[in-house]
Amino acid sequence: MAYSNLAREVFQQEVNNLREAGLFKEERHIHAPQDAEIEVEFPAGSSLKRVINMCANNYLGLSNNPEVIGAAKDGLNQYGYGMSSVRFICGTQNIHRELEKRLTEFLGTEDTLLFPSCMDANAGVFEAILNDQDVMIADRLVHASIVDGMRLCNAMRDTFKHSDMGHLEEKLQDHQDKRYRIIITDGVFSMDGDLARLDEIVELAEKYDSMVFVDDSHASGFIGKTGRGTHEHCGVLGKIDLITTTLGKALGGASGGCVSGRTELVELCRQRARPYLFSNAVAPMIITGALKVFELISGSTERRDKLEENTIYWRRLLTEVGFDLKKGESPIVPVMLYNAKLAQDMARDLYAEGIYAIGFFFPVVPRGQARIRTQLSAAHEKHHLDKALEAFVKVGKKFDILGKSKKEIIAKYGM
Ligand SMILES: *Cc1c(COP(=O)(O)O)cnc(C)c1O
Repeated sequence: MAYSNLAREVFQQEVNNLREAGLFKEERHIHAPQDAEIEVEFPAGSSLKRVINMCANNYLGLSNNPEVIGAAKDGLNQYGYGMSSVRFICGTQNIHRELEKRLTEFLGTEDTLLFPSCMDANAGVFEAILNDQDVMIADRLVHASIVDGMRLCNAMRDTFKHSDMGHLEEKLQDHQDKRYRIIITDGVFSMDGDLARLDEIVELAEKYDSMVFVDDSHASGFIGKTGRGTHEHCGVLGKIDLITTTLGKALGGASGGCVSGRTELVELCRQRARPYLFSNAVAPMIITGALKVFELISGSTERRDKLEENTIYWRRLLTEVGFDLKKGESPIVPVMLYNAKLAQDMARDLYAEGIYAIGFFFPVVPRGQARIRTQLSAAHEKHHLDKALEAFVKVGKKFDILGKSKKEIIAKYGM
């Protein structure tokens, strides 16, 4: 027997170790479409509980939008269920190219290539473009999929301290001998919700002859006046050489990602990026759904404006009652607790009060930086946020952290 009892025991022990280290991840089964309120079965086997959802990436509230669903159904009827092919064999329909043009227009770039996901876009993009004469200089907090994409590329890898422009400048100076330099960053960082300083990054790139890469997955559709992303917010539309983003968050939330940017770089991805060449084309109904998403968000900024209002409102409510927040302007609002157990205990009690938010702690965030991350959506109404606040206040009182500084929380609970 190839899979011996010993092997079974060894691997089971590894799973057990995760559990003991508090790193075991449990799925929560949702018996409803994604929305501001959802029905959750948790733990598995328990009865359904209706909760306010504060942890989805459903920023624009489009994941369960009737018009998007209608467009997806039309796509299903007109273009079939799936492509059963990668793009370059027989998996490209007219609508795939149409969506790429729409993305190009929206992101203010030159061309766009769809991928099965943004994870795949990041996995393929660097290897397709760079070689061992080049260097990739990444912010230390970039998304895991970028880290993986960099590993797959044989260009030299380097990093700069998170959002530290002085450190980035030093690195750019260090690498002037390389053929090409590329600065790599997220637009909005998912754990802290802070924005990359793209205006300064572009300036440094111009000074030191470097390309700029931005993963705008947590920004596309809602950051910037018309929601084009972090580059719009920072006033550098058209100056980012490569953008990757996802259709799996604000832009409908189904799946799919893209590489968008300079014509030649996108063409190299079309020729060489392995996840594009070797993974199935995005399903037609997702393409027609996404085309509807762009119709909706290009016609009006109502949704991103409501999201912004909700974000300001929620930040104000939490601040007024004395929670310690990470400062920022994105709809990612981290409530800082510092201690891992406190974050877990509070998330559990919030859930009992009907609020679904997740505690994050090491290794997802640095040690001593545990928090509950809340995320706003345009699907939230004021009454959702008011009710969520009530629960936060009740639980905050129980643990006696309201009005307490970082120092005081750490003194009471440890890091
Ligand atoms: C969510 C996310 C991804 C992955 O997107 P998928 O399309 O779900 O693979 C990539 N990068 C960043 C920054 C993300 O937040």
